[in-house]
Amino acid sequence: MSVSSHAGKFSAPRVDASGRMALIGLSLPEMQDALSIHNLPKFRAKQVWNWIYQRGLTSFEDMSNLPKDMRSLLCDYYSIERPAVVAEQKSTDGTIKWLLAMSDGQQVETVYIPEESRGTLCVSSQVGCTLTCRFCHTGTQPLVRNLGPHEILQQIMHARDVLGEWPKVNEKSASQTGRDLTNIVMMGMGEPLYNYDNVAKALKICMDEDGLCISKRRVTLSTSGVVPQIRQCGEELGVNLAISLHAPNDKLRSSIMPINNKYPLNELLDACRNYPGISENRRITFEYVMLQGVNDSDDTARELVSLLENIPCKVNIIPFNKWPGSDFECPSRNRIMAFARILEDSGLDAPIRRPRGEDILAACGQLKSESQRLKKTESP
Ligand code: SAH
Ligand code: SF4
Repeated sequence: MSVSSHAGKFSAPRVDASGRMALIGLSLPEMQDALSIHNLPKFRAKQVWNWIYQRGLTSFEDMSNLPKDMRSLLCDYYSIERPAVVAEQKSTDGTIKWLLAMSDGQQVETVYIPEESRGTLCVSSQVGCTLTCRFCHTGTQPLVRNLGPHEILQQIMHARDVLGEWPKVNEKSASQTGRDLTNIVMMGMGEPLYNYDNVAKALKICMDEDGLCISKRRVTLSTSGVVPQIRQCGEELGVNLAISLHAPNDKLRSSIMPINNKYPLNELLDACRNYPGISENRRITFEYVMLQGVNDSDDTARELVSLLENIPCKVNIIPFNKWPGSDFECPSRNRIMAFARILEDSGLDAPIRRPRGEDILAACGQLKSESQRLKKTESP
């Protein structure tokens, strides 16, 4: 399916059950257009924009510089709500995982991962995924639909609500330092480049100085390798690029990631070499999930080294996170370290990702399936 027909077929509702339109997700000109239907001037739309994106208000009633009748008009026609929290799980290591329900009841996961020097939010782009990578639990859930720009932003705004990170009215701007949530990774459920337009729209507002004000240096988009959209992503958004690589040759990669049949490694790596802005200071991240007996041998590590020669990059080694019914096992710690050492000895940065939120099943796709399973066992 082409990317554009994909986008049309699986579009997100912008209007909630009571017929009100979501203002979140609109760019400033779009918000001005939307409000001009009710004869509201542009400066009023800018005030609303500021309240929504810079202060995180969820109620029009609290927009103190708007006339009262305008506030009630906004309440009647528009919404700025957050998704409903279906479940929240906190790990002993501080990781928080939310299962969020959108206005039509569709559910996605968002995970907050605190680290010493930063806090990263892992954001979903679709409900389910059309790709069927064999090691990924999201890949077993059929795509239900794309998330709209509002639903992508709402995940970030929800996390700011919970972490108490909106600047107070008397604080100067959204660019305050000392936040816990500093980084965004589009690495939750779904393939962001199969929902490019909505992801792009959301990220532009996320990175806008007058919006959520998160620098593009702190935003990373992860793709399984949708080659035609990679260049556009670099040119339009300038975000960091992560590629789910997981194998150093076409035969192995196609056997675990069917998308490789469509966009094989030579095309994918060409797109990486030509990624706008790529340099030693702005490297591509290759993600590499370690699968025992599949892609974890010394020979495979050496093949990976020669494949990535001359690409400014690092390799994130990810221990496989097992899920019920999966075909794979995670290699031993020693095997993973030996694999990483071969990469490091050849000059590649190859950090091994520390498992986070293990006690709350913080891997791709697991909380949602837990809740589905519970629902099934609860129903008669
Ligand atoms: N669709 C995009 C982004 C979401 S997946 C992509 O594939 O890049 C985010 C990352 O989690 C990918 O690198 C994916 O390969 C990895 N992943 C999926 N299932 C995993 C598992 N069971 N254990 C560890 N990592 C996993
Ligand atoms: Fe989809 Fe990414 Fe999972 Fe592959 S790894 S099935 S592209 S979410």
